[in-house]
Amino acid sequence: MKGEIIMIGNIHSIETFGTVDGPGIRYVIFTQGCLLRCQFCHNADTWEIGTGKQMSVSEIIDDLKSYLPFIEASGGGITVSGGEPLLQIPFITELFKECKKLGVHTTIDSSGGCYSTAPLFQQQLAELLNYTDLILLDLKHINRKKHIKLTGMANDHILDFALFYLTIQFQFGFAMYWFLVSQMKSRISPN
Ligand code: SF4
Repeated sequence: MKGEIIMIGNIHSIETFGTVDGPGIRYVIFTQGCLLRCQFCHNADTWEIGTGKQMSVSEIIDDLKSYLPFIEASGGGITVSGGEPLLQIPFITELFKECKKLGVHTTIDSSGGCYSTAPLFQQQLAELLNYTDLILLDLKHINRKKHIKLTGMANDHILDFALFYLTIQFQFGFAMYWFLVSQMKSRISPN
């Protein structure tokens, strides 16, 4: 259609029968690009930003529709993971808008590695939350030094991200997120 903006995302891969990334059976999208460098990352090929397969929102929605009977029967939905999904907020927002038109439960699985208090990021995040049912915040380590050792990055802004969601939770009066404390935590040395 003339003048239509086609939103494109950089996608690493898609799992159509996920069972560990939120409630029920999930259509899981692993986005391309991540700022962290976790020692035990199982998806290191998602790190590079701007690569991966370019897919439009409509391509993904068309594919998702064929799995909806299974997803809906299980109380599931769609989860966008990574990589780091919040590196592509405008794309995910458009995707989730279309999911909500279909009544699909929407989840983001994020490490919080790109969280920022910059006005543009906050504005985009607020828009995304209008269409998001659940946040999975995968905190790699609560201790700053150990977080740096484990991921190559300090966790100050990630803890800010957690506080941000606590605020949202109280504001909306219901639990919007789960904390995931990474299994990698147990693998780091006590020093
Ligand atoms: S946040 Fe996830 S994708 Fe990124 S380096 Fe860590 S484990 Fe890998």
